[in-house]
Formats: sequence, structure tokens, C-alpha cells
Amino acid sequence: QREAERRACYQPAITTDGARIEVVANIAAPAEAGRAVEAGGEGVGLLRTEFLFLGRDQAPSEDEQAAAYTEMVRALNGLPIIIRTLDIGGDKAVPYMSMPAEENPFLGERGIRLCLNRPELFRTQLRAIFRAAAHGPVRIMYPMISTLEELKRAKSLTEEVRLELGADPVEIGIMIEVPSAVMMAEELAAEADFFSIGSNDLTQYCLAVDRMHPLLSRQADGLHPAVLRMIDATVRAADKAGIWVGVCGGIAGDPRGVVILTGLGVRELSVSIPSIAAVKAQIRGLSMEQARALARRALACPTSAAVRGLR
Ligand code: PEP
Ligand code: MG
Repeated sequence: QREAERRACYQPAITTDGARIEVVANIAAPAEAGRAVEAGGEGVGLLRTEFLFLGRDQAPSEDEQAAAYTEMVRALNGLPIIIRTLDIGGDKAVPYMSMPAEENPFLGERGIRLCLNRPELFRTQLRAIFRAAAHGPVRIMYPMISTLEELKRAKSLTEEVRLELGADPVEIGIMIEVPSAVMMAEELAAEADFFSIGSNDLTQYCLAVDRMHPLLSRQADGLHPAVLRMIDATVRAADKAGIWVGVCGGIAGDPRGVVILTGLGVRELSVSIPSIAAVKAQIRGLSMEQARALARRALACPTSAAVRGLR
């Protein structure tokens, strides 16, 4: 029994009616890449690269970053990894970057905004990523994209770096985690190879509730119908443009979220390593028809409590 369960985690997650959902890992340290594979992960859907930059007194060099990314690419042994470019700012402060104090750091110089304002920091990371990409399938993902201009600027810098290195092109995707990106998803989809919905931030910005707030964070439920309707709109825009959508926020590993997201047409779920086997097992017991029916009912709910209460 145990052995059968263990082996099942290495099989793909396919619904009873034949739809394949990719189940990949969120990781934040080099050693986790190997662990993700051992746990049945079909790759890495989100590498949070902040770990390389935090808790030290200067930024990591290109060589140090390239070594860390390459170690992970190698550990994945041919499985894909999505490397998210630096998402610092917001709650994550870095002393050596001398970031001016902000009244509203979550609305401030965060993620791609910081990288575009500090092109040398960004270019160093991009060079390291392209060097790692010579060792296996790597995709690049930008965090906190809120406008089309940001995406175009980030892409053109990335292309410059790629040409300097003479590296092969890689797929480039964006996090959808800001409401403006949902509203502009069609335009953004024309410039991206994939979307990954960061439901943690999307929930915070959609409901205007700080995801870390000691009293309010419980209200920041990623299964709120307002958030689900944004996810639905994102998938529809992506479908039109012919690109795929994943989810890498917490709801991707929530049993109720797994069904609804599958039903909404999300093709990849990126979850914490300990959740991989359970998410795969759950998808195998599910039909697309059931998932679509629950998703439709969830979209019509008036509150997140109603979504959570659906039977
Ligand atoms: C998210 O916002 O949902 C996400 C996956 O990114 P992070 O939690 O690193 O902000
Ligand atoms: Mg985020």
C-alpha cells in the first residue's frame, strides 16, 4: 500500500477524463530542487531567488548566482525550472541596497520595479540565469508586473543580456499578481510565453488586505469570488492568446483550490514540496466535468465562506 502510494507520486496527474495538470514545486534554496523531484514534482514552477540576496551584506556576484542556479538545474535532471527574477521590496528589505523607507512598501519599489530602476542588479541576475540555462530547461519569470511598459522594458533588457552572452532564447513569463495585470491580460499575453498567477499577492491587492496583517490576514482568502473571477478572466485572456496559465500562490495547494483552479482551466499547479503527492492524488480522483461544475458555482458565490461551503 505504502509502496504503491510512493510510486504513484512519480506518475503524472491526469483527471479521470484525461486532462493532464502539471504539478511542480515552489522552492527557495538549492537543496530543495532535488527534494522536489524526490517528492514527485515535475519541475519547479517558482524559484524564489530572494534567498540569495537576504541575510548578507552585499549582493551575490554573477558567479555565485550562476553556480546556485546551475546546481538546481542539474538536480532537476531535465525537468523545467521557472526562475523568478528578484522580488525584493515590500516586506523583504535588504540593508545593502539602501532602499529608502516607504510609507506603503507593498505599493512601492518592489519586484520588477526595483530591478528596472537598478539595471546593473537585474543584468547580473539575468546573466547568471542564462549561464544556468545552458545546463537544462530554464524559463524566466518577472514578478509584480503591473503595466505593459514594464514587461517590454524587462524583455528588452533580457534580450540585450542574452545577445551579449550569445545564449539561446528561453521562454519568458510573468506573474499575474496585480489587478491591473488581470485587466490587461490580453495585451500582456501577446508579449509573454506563459502566466503564473501569484494568488497571495493578487488576493492582497484585489481585496486591499495586507497578507501579513495580524488581524485582517484571515480575510485575505484566495478563494474569495473576487479573486476567482480575476483568475477566470486571466485564463480566458491567455486561452485567446494561446498561452498557458499556472498558479503558484497558496491556493494551488489547497484541496478546494485544486478543484476550482483545475475547473477554471489552470494547467499547472506550483505547490510546496510536502503538498505535491496529495495534489497529484487529488487530481487523479477528479473529472474535468466535476471540476468545471464546481468552478462555475464558485464564480457565482457571493462570499468566500460560500465558496468554502460548496458541497
Ligand atoms: C504570490 O504572490 O502568490 C507568490 C507566489 O509570490 P510570493 O508569495 O513570493 O510573493
Ligand atoms: Mg507575489
